[in-house]
Amino acid sequence: MKKLLIATNNKGKVKELQDLLKDTGLELVTPAEINLDLEVEEDGATYAENAAKKARAFAHASGLISLADDSGLEVDALDGAPGLYSARYHPKPGANDADRRAYLLENLAGKPRPWTAHFHATIAIAVPEQEVQVVDGNCYGEIIPEERGTGGFGYDPIFLLSELNKTMAELEMDEKNRFSHRAKAVMNAIPVLKKIYSG
Ligand code: IMP
Repeated sequence: MKKLLIATNNKGKVKELQDLLKDTGLELVTPAEINLDLEVEEDGATYAENAAKKARAFAHASGLISLADDSGLEVDALDGAPGLYSARYHPKPGANDADRRAYLLENLAGKPRPWTAHFHATIAIAVPEQEVQVVDGNCYGEIIPEERGTGGFGYDPIFLLSELNKTMAELEMDEKNRFSHRAKAVMNAIPVLKKIYSG
């Protein structure tokens, strides 16, 4: 069977990507399943640079075709912050997702609502020692001042999908996987994967 390494250590992303890619016919493997312990420094200037760096590093270390995601939340009233720094958006080291949500709301306090925002995902696919291909997806909504729901991860409890009147954390995984930035990026990645594996 044709293998694809899900090149991320983020458990929330792993679950979503496994579900999003389940009908591709590929054997999906995680870094943990192949005992690959790899942290890649995200020091690129763009999502594409970071995603490509992660995909390339995992492909090189494993010898497997690898798919990495670099994503973030962009809030219009904060000029696109936290953006590329979404995973590290807190002054204190060791902060968790709940701390980052609280910090985001602190920074938005007093700014006029609606706090429009979008999630962005860039997916990079690397064939070992060959070139990397990248695709994108976006999901638009708004930040709300109180948390709703317990699903998902990251900023999901405060990100409202206006057309559903539900936060991302109130959606079942299959529902999030119809609307999310990652779902849209995977949709764009599927033709790229088909071409790679048929070649
Ligand atoms: P990175 O791609 O490892 O830099 O991390 C992206 C960060 O953006 C995550 O740690 C989350 O804070 C946030 N993020 C990305 N995608 C989602 C999502 O689907 N829901 C909630 N937060 C997300």
